[in-house]
Amino acid sequence: MTGSSDKPMEHNLSQIDVIYDAETIADRIEVLSQKIASDLPEDVLIIVILKGSFIFAADLLRALDSSGMQPMVDFITIWSYGASTESTGTVNLTRDITEDVRDRAVLVVDDILDTGRTLAYAKNLMTSRGAKTVHTCVLLDKEARREEPIEANYVGFPVEDVFVVGYGIDKAHRFRSLPFIGVVRTS
Ligand code: 5GP
Ligand code: MG
Repeated sequence: MTGSSDKPMEHNLSQIDVIYDAETIADRIEVLSQKIASDLPEDVLIIVILKGSFIFAADLLRALDSSGMQPMVDFITIWSYGASTESTGTVNLTRDITEDVRDRAVLVVDDILDTGRTLAYAKNLMTSRGAKTVHTCVLLDKEARREEPIEANYVGFPVEDVFVVGYGIDKAHRFRSLPFIGVVRTS
């Protein structure tokens, strides 16, 4: 980063190292969607954890449609990072779903599985509300950072303990529109 820390960062692509490019992501989503379509009922209710997973979810939903599913979708806003680059350690729910999950097959979709607190919270919430089944799908898995005993049923890619951006994922509200997953260079 250049300049003092209170100035907005330049939106300069040369500052970002790509770790998964758009084609690699699309190919992986295709594989994931076929697996999900063979495992889960075609009317599964997909619960998208906002904001970071909105682009992943949009691509996953269309791939699921192509794989013969007719998923329904709802959104929940849960966050643990805020505008920081470290987990706050607590999970905050600021916008709930409107669908009734009782007796339904649910697939919770998130961008990154990190300490596991967010996904565990969402999964427990849906289970406590009477969902018939709760499966989970994340684009990225930072396995080394786990603090809660939770694994996702469907994982796009592993990722090291680095702060990633792009493809819906932000750093202080920026970089969500990048079509790839990358790491902001700090030097
Ligand atoms: P957890 O609750 O598992 O610790 O954190 C999961 C959430 O933290 C993700 O939904 C995501 O919002 C955020 N998160 C984790 N790692 C990163 C990262 O590298 N970059 C960004 N922007 N958010 C992250
Ligand atoms: Mg999130």
